[in-house]
Amino acid sequence: MIYNLAYDICALPILIILLSINKSQRQAPFLQNRRYLMLVVSVLGLAISDILDVLGTMHTDIFPPTYLYFTSYLYFAFLAFTPFAVAVYSVALKEIKPDKDHIGIALALYIPAVIWAGFIFTNWAHHTIFVYDENFVYSRGPLQPVNYLFTLYYIVFSIIFTHANRDLIDIKSEHSIYVFAIMGFVASAFEFIFAGQLVVAYFITVSVLIIFLTVQRPDTYLDGVTGQLNKPTFARLFNFYRSSEEKFGLVFVYIEDLKLANQAIGVDRVNDIMKQVGLFLEEFSPNRTFYLGVSSFVLIPGKGSDISRIADAVQTRFEGKWSSGGASINLSCRTLILNVPEDAKDLEEVYAYDQCLIDAAGYDFTYFTAQDLNIDSAKRRLLVEAAIKRAVKEDNFVMYYQPIVSTETEKVVSAEALIRLIDPELGFIPPDEFIPIAEKNGSILKIGEIVFKKVFEFIKENDLQSKGVEYIEINLSVVQCMQDDMSEKLVRMMKEYGVEAGRINLEITETAAIESSRTLVKNMTYLTSENVSFSLDDFGSGYSNMNSVLDLPLDMVKFDKHMVDVATEKEKGKIVLASSATMIKRMDMKIVAEGVETKEQAEEMKKMGVDYIQGYYYSRPIPAQAFVEFVDDFNDVA
Ligand code: C2E
Ligand code: CA
Ligand code: CA
Repeated sequence: MIYNLAYDICALPILIILLSINKSQRQAPFLQNRRYLMLVVSVLGLAISDILDVLGTMHTDIFPPTYLYFTSYLYFAFLAFTPFAVAVYSVALKEIKPDKDHIGIALALYIPAVIWAGFIFTNWAHHTIFVYDENFVYSRGPLQPVNYLFTLYYIVFSIIFTHANRDLIDIKSEHSIYVFAIMGFVASAFEFIFAGQLVVAYFITVSVLIIFLTVQRPDTYLDGVTGQLNKPTFARLFNFYRSSEEKFGLVFVYIEDLKLANQAIGVDRVNDIMKQVGLFLEEFSPNRTFYLGVSSFVLIPGKGSDISRIADAVQTRFEGKWSSGGASINLSCRTLILNVPEDAKDLEEVYAYDQCLIDAAGYDFTYFTAQDLNIDSAKRRLLVEAAIKRAVKEDNFVMYYQPIVSTETEKVVSAEALIRLIDPELGFIPPDEFIPIAEKNGSILKIGEIVFKKVFEFIKENDLQSKGVEYIEINLSVVQCMQDDMSEKLVRMMKEYGVEAGRINLEITETAAIESSRTLVKNMTYLTSENVSFSLDDFGSGYSNMNSVLDLPLDMVKFDKHMVDVATEKEKGKIVLASSATMIKRMDMKIVAEGVETKEQAEEMKKMGVDYIQGYYYSRPIPAQAFVEFVDDFNDVA
């Protein structure tokens, strides 16, 4: 028989490269990674022993009999070990060590392997797997097909185990196991049809390479800037440790003033310093130092380490300078030590503590323990953040509409669109709570788009104008006003939905006018030219500074509920509202009074020249359909 060694030889450089990458790169301390290494070594052993074995059988004149036997044993050992290693790897994807704690898995993995290894290594006595005759001609023994059975067993084991646990392992890892199975079968079929074409090691090498590129790439574990392990890796390791019921400590290190440092010495140098900080921290906790983002690191020091001493040492180091590229700066840090599970039992609490540490600017000390921080509000904030993410994905937002009534005609002439978030887990979350959070984490832009879409759909589906409703007011957040392309986007969307610009009134606040004046003016000028109108929201709620809004093309001013309340309670309040109204009317703007709850208030507003009234007196914000019915009734639509 002629054997083709080309495949095995091609496999060698791939495996050697994989091994050297694996050795040179920082690895996350996962069982999965160690088992992957074992698998690569096993395939390398398989390819090498295959080559040596075939060379021996082809050149019996050169190689001594001991060599022939030795390489054959080696080959059969690796041939058996490789599918076993695949099965062990598939179990390790769940970070399970097959030991006495997982006795069923351990037995299923080890028993066949031990029995088959026994057969292989006693082959000299029974020659049932392979034999060399007196001329050193190789022939198969009757038990050789058991090899295939053995391989099949471990492949089926891997598939069943992976499939049964598919909810707990990510989809890429799951698929990688199926790739092994498919490649294994294809390779075996190939060798069966084309005898002498030794492709098995090569096919498995390709599978190992695919796994490397999808699941095992070291940089999926690493943070790009600091070079330390990243947040998902922390999450995984934390959960892994927690599942083993062990106690351990965490040390958080939050670096303050990075923004200032960026301005002072530039982003590149600061990034370099962050790398140095990572390396410094790593000394206390090798392979267990993580960068969580937002300038905070967390360490999981080994068992028996004194976490408070680590925090002390970190604080001491930060009394000195950090330098990069000829520039040195002082950085300050806050540290927090936590005992798991006493202080924090799950990731949610850990992240809440991290958030608290980030927010803990107002303290006159920098060394924190769990008792110093109250995580309840941070916890709630993270929950709401998760709910917002869900809502964007699953469309848990609903628009409500609150009627706005003209004092002149006593008809509903418009409505304010108010967003509602109804989360399947947290229930109703008020906009006052989730809008500020969404503004902080940037998701407000997506939400703003959702609001536009929903309101446009509502306008398109209902002939509001014929019922007397001229336009809908939509709230714009400060962050939206800061977007350069906000106006173009909005106009594009209006065209897409076939909504006339005159049907839209945008509410902006004074904060937006102050914080984003130039961009806002640009956006407003363009939108006004397209016939969109604008209202100034919450007038009189804070320290109103009329100057900042004098230059804005506003059509309306909305008096805040607080101003309305004061005006109907106190004589001085009445004067303030009345003179504001006179001033605004002289500037040719209309006035909406918000939060009007009683008949008396409504009448008072009318007397003072308010044009429109919005408030519980007429109606609370109500769902779209209810609003249409309300208008039909209120406006006497035939
Ligand atoms: P806002 O723009 O000042 O909205 C008016 C708020 O006053 C609404 O609260 C409304 O339900 C409430 N309100 C109306 N009439 C009365 C009344 O007679 N008495 C009382 N006590 N309250 C009244 P809501 O819907 O909870 O919204 C709160 C805030 O959330 C809004 O204040 C606005 O700043 C923000 N928001 C709501 N929807 C959106 C949205 O779609 N986009 C953005 N960016 N912000 C929104
Ligand atoms: Ca508003
Ligand atoms: Ca308002």
